[in-house]
Amino acid sequence: LAVNVDRVLLPTLATPDEREAIRFGSAVVTHADLAASARAVAAGLAGASRVAVWATPSLPTCLAVVGALTAGAAVVPVNPRIGERELAHIVGDSAPDLVLAAPGDNLPAALAALPRRDIDPAERLDGPLPAEADQEAPAFIVYTSGTTGPPKGVLLPRRAIATNLDALARAWEWTADDVVVHALPLFHVHGLILGVLGPLRRGGAVRHTGRFDSAAIAAALADGATMVFGVPTMYHRLAADCEADADLAAAIGRARLLVSGSAALPARDHARITAATGQRVVERYGMTETLMNCSVRASGDRRPGTVGPPVDGVDVRLVDDAGVPIEASDGETVGEIEVRGPNLFLGYLNRPDATAAALRDGWFRTGDMAVRDPDGYVRIVGRRATDLIKSGGYKIGAGEIENALLEHPGVAEAAVTGEPDDDLGERIVAWIVPEDERPSEQDLADHVAKLLAPHKRPRVVRYLEALPRNEMGKVTKRALHA
Ligand code: ATP
Ligand code: MG
Repeated sequence: LAVNVDRVLLPTLATPDEREAIRFGSAVVTHADLAASARAVAAGLAGASRVAVWATPSLPTCLAVVGALTAGAAVVPVNPRIGERELAHIVGDSAPDLVLAAPGDNLPAALAALPRRDIDPAERLDGPLPAEADQEAPAFIVYTSGTTGPPKGVLLPRRAIATNLDALARAWEWTADDVVVHALPLFHVHGLILGVLGPLRRGGAVRHTGRFDSAAIAAALADGATMVFGVPTMYHRLAADCEADADLAAAIGRARLLVSGSAALPARDHARITAATGQRVVERYGMTETLMNCSVRASGDRRPGTVGPPVDGVDVRLVDDAGVPIEASDGETVGEIEVRGPNLFLGYLNRPDATAAALRDGWFRTGDMAVRDPDGYVRIVGRRATDLIKSGGYKIGAGEIENALLEHPGVAEAAVTGEPDDDLGERIVAWIVPEDERPSEQDLADHVAKLLAPHKRPRVVRYLEALPRNEMGKVTKRALHA
């Protein structure tokens, strides 16, 4: 697994071979093809220092990103389904020199105004690679998911990406023999940095299935893929599909590793996948600003509801409201997660205020709340801003109540929030997508009070047809109260 982090982000570009690197449908690119394509793309950038990539889930997107990184430019991946206002914000904020797209892609006005280069997957160039860019230079400007506010541009240096991918390789025993299969979007850290650069840095391969489809994941596993990356909504569908189809369940059961992240994997879905396939999903925790902080190790105890210990080289601590570190590993004391290490970002683009507010003595304040188990495993309770409910003198995490609600057979989806209450300060509100038979408010309150504690029962239940979610399947709690 030794890779010289100080020198190169994608070492196989310098020592390419004919093994598969990237596959989209029937289009296959070898590591040698990738190196030749990267040189061609890099040569066409004419010294641009920032390039937007129209990040459709496609081979040209991967080639554009690898080519721009080879040229030493900073990549701004753009969600192709983004709204006009958000796009104008991102283009105005990041001011790219040009945009890379696939031939024929129709670009919205804000991007069409920039100089454009089309990525032709057949275009190749021989010769030496450009010199590797500085380790502290930004490789990406990735916009956050905008779950809690307008998206912020996160400046990610090469050093953070290289060291974090290597830490994940150790946690997941990830080698050149692994083939990752996924269906994630390519404009966030999960799908692009973990899901594409991760396999390429290892010298292995990635297969993208386009839209998420359990059968396509199973087919890839039957055809040599070893690892699956997904968000909880995908594992939720995978669980249901495996319960309905024993052959599918057997195919998924042959994976070396199923990895979940980007949001909490409900304990119920973790258990359903294990029951159907024999697999225990590995959960990891990270964010755009820090890449991955914690992960259950491939060889570790893969228990539901936990994101495991910190990955190698990353310091993770819990602090109380006053910023004082919490030493307890009692699985009870809730604190905010702070992170320090080579995985940290350089800052938010054009937001010195937000950057300063997010850092304290070199520690990044994640805004996520967690407890630590006696063996050092971290369990996320939710976000400080939206998931921590202060009710009747208690601090209550929404996640625990959501997991309890999901154990009720009448509940298909659940989200928990707090809203102002004269008596309690805040009262617990449960937003429920019911199964066919809708459980009563009283029934749900009793169910939670029995599993957890009486003060954790919802006082109000609101029934919905679907929870509002963003592209990563994360529940956008702001939208619930809108
Ligand atoms: P914004 O910062 O714009 O509000 P966002 O925080 O959703 O959006 P990302 O950086 O994509 O943007 O997501 C990181 C967040 O996702 C983490 O801070 C955490 O709240 C959540 N998250 C990621 N992995 C997990 C996990 N395994 N369990 C629980 N939450 C997770
Ligand atoms: Mg965030």
